[in-house]
Amino acid sequence: MSMAPLIFDCDGVLLDSEPLAMRAILEELATHGIAFDPQEAARRFVGATDAEVARMVTAESGHPLPLDFPERVAERALALFAGELRPMAGAAAFFASHRGPRAVASNSGQRRLERALAIAGLAPFFAPDRCVSQEQVARPKPAPDLYLHVAALFDRPPESCLVVEDSVTGATAAVAAGMTVIGFLGASGQAPDQADRLRAVGVSVLADNFAALPGVLTGLARN
Ligand SMILES: [Mg+2]
Repeated sequence: MSMAPLIFDCDGVLLDSEPLAMRAILEELATHGIAFDPQEAARRFVGATDAEVARMVTAESGHPLPLDFPERVAERALALFAGELRPMAGAAAFFASHRGPRAVASNSGQRRLERALAIAGLAPFFAPDRCVSQEQVARPKPAPDLYLHVAALFDRPPESCLVVEDSVTGATAAVAAGMTVIGFLGASGQAPDQADRLRAVGVSVLADNFAALPGVLTGLARN
């Protein structure tokens, strides 16, 4: 039997980028005089596209954000990444020994995805055509489009794919695609009840970090 394709979310799974990505959003909102409690922002915005964040904030504040808000946030995030972005602990070691098909499926834009993977030193572990951003599909996560697109790239049924996701938005997308989702709890700044929130949307197994992932995969392969 061939190995199950393993599909990774990027921010909060491959990269410990969520605190920096959130900082980019909060700093950009601040230039419009909009202040957000960081914990509340993390709870609501992690996993959402920057366009979705702009829609949510505009709807609530009555302050229309400019159309280029997502591009501005992306530029700000890349500037922060250049100085501070790190791969998730244990990620490089995992990929050095992992065999089998793999891909990245990210709700960020294509340029930011590729740059961030390169900055963190993880780009060599993924074929360029297996780094898929929401720009390549009609609807971002939580819609299943991204994950279904990746399954099609592998020419495999979605049910045979495994997904590693840290956010409720991303896990919802993968569950909707019919995939088995491993909830990843290794990112910094995750909500204390993140495991419960992931289980509530259909995440079946959890991994505390990359070191735990091989054991989790072995367990799933036995079932
Ligand atoms: Mg994520």
